[in-house]
Amino acid sequence: MKLSELKTGEKGIIVKVMGHGGFRKRIIEMGFVKGKDVEVLLNAPLQDPVKYKLMGYEVSLRHQEADMIEVVRDSGELPADAASTAVLEPLVGHDDYLQHLARREGRSINVALVGNPNCGKTSLFNYASGAHGHVGNYSGVTVDASEAHATYFGYDFSLTDLPGTYSLSCYSPEELYVREHLTEKLPDVVINVIDATNLERNLYLTTQLVDMNIRMVCALNFYDEFERRGDHVDTGTLSRLFGMPMVATSFKSGRGVKELFKTVIQVYEGTSKQTRHLHINYGHEIENGIAHIQRYLKADEHITQHYSTRYLALKLLEHDSHVLDYLGNHLAGEQRISDFHKLTTERDEASARVKEETGNDSETAIMDAKYGFINGALREAGYKTGTKEDTYRTTHLIDGVLSDKYLGFPIFFLMLYVMFETTFSLGQYPMDWIEQAVAWVGGRLSATMPDGPLKAMLIDGVVGGVGSVIVFLPQILILYFFISVMEDSGYMARAAFIMDKLMHKMGLHGKSFIPLIMGFGCNVPAVMATRTIESRRSKLITMMILPFMSCSARLPIYIMIAGTFFSLQYRSWVMLSLYAAGILTAVVVSKVFSALVIKGDDTPFVMELPPYRWPTAKAIWRHTWEKGKEYLKKMGGIILVASIIVWALGYFPHDDSLSREQQQEQSYIGRMGKAVEPVFALQGFNWKLDVSLLAGVGAKEIVASTIGVLYSGDDSFADDEDFSDDTEKYTHLRQTMMQEGITPLAAYAYLIFILLYFPCIATVVAIKNETGSWRWALFAAAYTTAVAWVVSAAIYQIGGLF
Ligand code: GDP
Ligand code: MG
Repeated sequence: MKLSELKTGEKGIIVKVMGHGGFRKRIIEMGFVKGKDVEVLLNAPLQDPVKYKLMGYEVSLRHQEADMIEVVRDSGELPADAASTAVLEPLVGHDDYLQHLARREGRSINVALVGNPNCGKTSLFNYASGAHGHVGNYSGVTVDASEAHATYFGYDFSLTDLPGTYSLSCYSPEELYVREHLTEKLPDVVINVIDATNLERNLYLTTQLVDMNIRMVCALNFYDEFERRGDHVDTGTLSRLFGMPMVATSFKSGRGVKELFKTVIQVYEGTSKQTRHLHINYGHEIENGIAHIQRYLKADEHITQHYSTRYLALKLLEHDSHVLDYLGNHLAGEQRISDFHKLTTERDEASARVKEETGNDSETAIMDAKYGFINGALREAGYKTGTKEDTYRTTHLIDGVLSDKYLGFPIFFLMLYVMFETTFSLGQYPMDWIEQAVAWVGGRLSATMPDGPLKAMLIDGVVGGVGSVIVFLPQILILYFFISVMEDSGYMARAAFIMDKLMHKMGLHGKSFIPLIMGFGCNVPAVMATRTIESRRSKLITMMILPFMSCSARLPIYIMIAGTFFSLQYRSWVMLSLYAAGILTAVVVSKVFSALVIKGDDTPFVMELPPYRWPTAKAIWRHTWEKGKEYLKKMGGIILVASIIVWALGYFPHDDSLSREQQQEQSYIGRMGKAVEPVFALQGFNWKLDVSLLAGVGAKEIVASTIGVLYSGDDSFADDEDFSDDTEKYTHLRQTMMQEGITPLAAYAYLIFILLYFPCIATVVAIKNETGSWRWALFAAAYTTAVAWVVSAAIYQIGGLF
């Protein structure tokens, strides 16, 4: 009987909790666990909620919720037939008897058979139950649901043979029938029967069941045929990726049936290791739409109890008229018509954005994502087939080349090369223009304003600081343009796919690769891009090693120092060695972290392989801009403030009679630099370099401008950000630095320190926002600085021996 049927004062024992995963989880977390005693404290008719006593606590539930909990009633006395029941022998008291009853009740499992037409549902139904339902090799044979019983391993199964469907949309009576059965009758476990000789199409229905968040076992049927054709798939991997157990079966011979029912029991009892709730990733816009729609759905108890809100949101986005009607009626009944309007508005907005970006309606986008998921999972599970008609032929053909075991890597690295080459060479032109514009603004200010602190602040602080950053905007945008094209066309998914194995060796996941590449542009949007990584562990490690990806803000200081200390033929090698050192450090650190610091099991997830498509201009522009915007935000905020602070520390206390250099030395920043000098004694830095490192905490761009200010006798050097091959300038800089005892080795150690230490403040804040706590952000800041200190000291000390 149902818990809701127990009257005030009555007691019972819980047998099972029905409903979809989210609901069941919530109820179970409240303490309504199988086998527990429950007592009704107050159950007044027509009054919600009902009060229960459970494990010594008082809990209240709504009637509707109590309807989904099955119990056996404790009537206070042993029933007449109790003694005569053979199984009672070992039992003694009244309580034992009730527990026994609850167990026996709990051992009856309602199972629904769901699958495509002709996948073998009725064969299983007949085989298991000994019934003689009509088996036929044409669709539409099963017009209605038939029921039968079967017994395996001491459990009683009540089987429902549902009509065959290809999908769970609302286009045919069969589809609606199956859907209704799943949400109204609430079977304990669904057996999803699959025709293994047609995996891709059959798994499509599976992905829809996954969205409904119900307990499932998958029967890979026609396995005899599958093997005969020489097809292959790693069932274990496929199970892991789909988050549900899969059993190879052949219902013609009865192969695997026992195993199947054993697995059903495990899923029912919650002991199956492969069962895991899974969210298929539908891409940014759809996921956003889902989240917005869910907000309204979650506010309604009736809805959350009967449906997974994610499923309903998806159905709305698929423009499912049935779900729309249901919500329309339900919310109208609850007088929440305005909510219903908001829901449909959210849906239309999301659909419009999807349309803009992909040229498809959201239904197609969702379908594509599902096939992308299936495609990726099958690929990872090593699926091979001899003969099969192919619905995504073009995609598979392109994939045959682009994600080929051998061709994939060279093609990918070629693409990266083209990307970086274009970024830096093409980016040079707008960079020069911006530079000239900044210089012009500085020049105008310097010509028109009266001398004094305000002028100095505007020119050296604001224009100098912000100008040195805005100069990189074109390069950043070009880089992000390439990344957006790769993402939108579907190629990035392949890149992530082929990098997956390599990344696994680092304790990461293929999906970490995209943020890492983005890190070469700017770490801030890269940190935000880790959002696509489902596993929290991989996400954390990725964020922790991201700062080692040398962002473009560090470029000017590399160019400056390499230009100063190394002759032309070595410069590129110095630069290259820096990038390589960053990547190497990332690899080592990530290995250490995944082994020691950031533990936790890594849930497997599918690398989706969506169909290829031509990206739309609008979508590319939007995605490029979204990423570039973060860079600009950084400039308006943190960099502006930091530049002014650095300027002020260098300007005050001010003494006009001193030369610029002497002024720097006696200023606050000069004193700070002198104070920290001992800390960097092992690295061979002097106080000026130390000062630049302190300034770089705000933003790496400030390092170069600080060096410029500290080493220039006059203003022109600091204001002019053009550090390209200007030999005279470099000679001057080298002479001064050499006089102060900076050796090329120390200079190199300095570059390494800059590469590795403290990610800028904006990145630290981004890490805090993504992880939700300061803990990881501060940790990232501290440990990278420690690594930088050790490595640069080692370089200077060990290098000094030669
Ligand atoms: P339903 O539409 O899902 O109920 O499928 P049926 O149970 O009616 O099966 C359709 C056809 O496939 C029948 O001719 C079955 O005998 C056959 N069949 C079912 N399972 C298997 C299997 O595992 N291997 C082979 N070779 N044939 C099967
Ligand atoms: Mg049938």
